[in-house]
Amino acid sequence: MTSIASRVRIVQGDITKLKTDAIVNAANRSLLGGGGVDGAIHRAAGPELFKECRTIKGCKTGDAKITHGYNLPATWIIHTVGPNLNAGDDKEKLRDAYQNSLNLAIDTKEIKTIAFPCISTGIYGYPQEEAAHIALEVTRKTLKEYEILEEVIFCVFLDSDREIYERLKPVYFPD
Ligand code: ADP
Repeated sequence: MTSIASRVRIVQGDITKLKTDAIVNAANRSLLGGGGVDGAIHRAAGPELFKECRTIKGCKTGDAKITHGYNLPATWIIHTVGPNLNAGDDKEKLRDAYQNSLNLAIDTKEIKTIAFPCISTGIYGYPQEEAAHIALEVTRKTLKEYEILEEVIFCVFLDSDREIYERLKPVYFPD
């Protein structure tokens, strides 16, 4: 069996360029696009994404919904809504956002590789390091339980996030 650590990768850059089965979008509850990574994903995927999102009727904080990837190299987009700390949302919802995104990937069965941005740590104001602990902890537990997931990528954008994830990865994935 491959080690759990070998199924986790940190990549720095634009998540819209990744050719994974799914990328995760740090969306807002409307699912109709926004700033940051959400805006980048909508721009890269094209207007068909907006059309499909309009049929979904939003997403609650901590939940996840799936759409096609359209013009992206990734086949699927899993849209999740992390807590907005600037609006007083419950911090614990970040755990739900990661877990529900992974659960949806597993339920979809054909998703074996998935890439996450640093959910909630931009406009939504979640402290970066605290968020990384949650992301790594939920991922560790899920990878242990579900062998169907071959690879989880943490797509960091900022140097500060790369430093955090590279430092914490061996703490959560020593093997
Ligand atoms: P949120 O509203 O959930 O806080 P943001 O999009 O504001 O989401 O920020 C989340 C993270 O995504 C931040 O670390 C930000 O630097 C990063 N980010 C912005 N654009 C991209 C991109 N194209 N690819 C990957 N990460 C991105």
